[in-house]
Amino acid sequence: STQEKTPQICVVGSGPAGFYTAQHLLKHHTHAHVDIYEKQLVPFGLVRFGVAPDHPEVKNVINTFTQTARSDRCAFQGNVVVGRDVSVPELREAYHAVVLSYGAEDHQPLGIPGEELPGVVSARAFVGWYNGLPENQELAPDLSCDTAVILGQGNVALDVARILLTPPEHLEKTDITEAALGALRQSRVKTVWIVGRRGPLQVAFTIKELREMIQLPGTRPILDPSDFLGLQDRIKDVPRPRRRLTELLLRTATEKPGVEEAARQALASRAWGLRFFRSPQQVLPTPDGQRVAGIRLAVTSLEGVGESTRAVPTGDVEDLPCGLLLSSVGYKSRPIDPSVPFDPKLGVIPNTEGRVVNVPGLYCSGWVKRGPTGVITTTMTDSFLTSQALLEDLKAGLLPSGPRPGYVAIQALLSNRGVRPVSFSDWEKLDAEEVSRGQGTGKPREKLVDRREMLRLLGH
Ligand code: FAD
Repeated sequence: STQEKTPQICVVGSGPAGFYTAQHLLKHHTHAHVDIYEKQLVPFGLVRFGVAPDHPEVKNVINTFTQTARSDRCAFQGNVVVGRDVSVPELREAYHAVVLSYGAEDHQPLGIPGEELPGVVSARAFVGWYNGLPENQELAPDLSCDTAVILGQGNVALDVARILLTPPEHLEKTDITEAALGALRQSRVKTVWIVGRRGPLQVAFTIKELREMIQLPGTRPILDPSDFLGLQDRIKDVPRPRRRLTELLLRTATEKPGVEEAARQALASRAWGLRFFRSPQQVLPTPDGQRVAGIRLAVTSLEGVGESTRAVPTGDVEDLPCGLLLSSVGYKSRPIDPSVPFDPKLGVIPNTEGRVVNVPGLYCSGWVKRGPTGVITTTMTDSFLTSQALLEDLKAGLLPSGPRPGYVAIQALLSNRGVRPVSFSDWEKLDAEEVSRGQGTGKPREKLVDRREMLRLLGH
């Protein structure tokens, strides 16, 4: 019967990894059925809650994901926390195969004294705040100070710097939340320092994002030419993308701007700068000990060459005053279930080509598989490979052969536990509501940020 020939597959997480895995499975197997479980009420993971509101073109992948979700062989089950509402062994029992694609939600701690002081915020939470992630809506970052420091020099650090410094009227037509926009309108932040342990050759951001910073209206860059001494000669040997990026940094730091650019910079009321060779040592409190007042940085120098360069403290320190300290030094995944192997050091699920080691029928894709680096297209490639491995195993008869109940069995469990999943058509209702709320103010959407309100709108 068809039922016997229908592999029931479930995917945990509805970010790019979950959706691209599902897409590939559905395309390359004519009968497979895929259920996507998601803990949020809404799909798309970091495409909705990570990607910056002023980069709407990046979110076009949502159209492809929507096509996948609308397939009659695919179902979205939102509002289900795997590991809490349903366990991975229960999913493995109900499905022929389970793919874990639940991302990397924890931020890497700084591991320095004072980290817990008010005013110290993870970039991830700050991003979640302006992007409408329900659990970050109470963040209330203090923007009444004039200087913010961001630790880390990747694209997320530049996203955060750009959102802090962009004239708010330029964000009015984006899907940034109204609350964040209101707070940014009141912001007194004038200077943002972006601090890295290593030098200009080791920055982790890309050229497009850097160019945007350099051209940001009302804002001028502050780069110290002495950080770039001798670099001109060394960039000849580095790969092309890195060379172009470094040349842009070098030009900005050392060349005298043209008349027009000089005039623009003279009028700028805000500034951002890159601070190199500085490693965070201690968060400095205000005299009453109640808030962050600055960050003590250890001056470093580099040992080794190329990608394996390490920053080693020279013994000198420098105090950098700030009223807001954002840490953007990376993410890590959480273990989801005691039955699933987890590498706490790398923060990933140990796997070979997406096959979880020693657990037949269990797979992983995306950030939880390879660690929290890479863009959406990297995640796509990686998810296709996992799907391919799964389909090979299916073909080779390595997955359970008899029929499996799939969602029917899980639905019964969830219902006993008082968990009510939301469907993709529920999301489409919320989506329509968001779009209509944005219309009055010319925004593509006004995101719903309150879970209770969302459930009420769905009649739950
Ligand atoms: P995620 O997108 O995080 O998806 C994981 C999903 O799993 C989430 O929906 C989560 O809610 C869900 N989940 C977690 N735990 C559970 C659970 N227990 N049960 C059920 N569901 C669960 N890339 C670009 O190409 N362009 C950009 O502009 C860009 N901007 C970025 C900005 C930020 C701030 C960040 C952090 C990343 C950005 N990236 C960007 C990278 C891109 O977002 C990632 O490559 C991609 O999202 C990783 O996909 P993923 O599916 O592994 O993880």
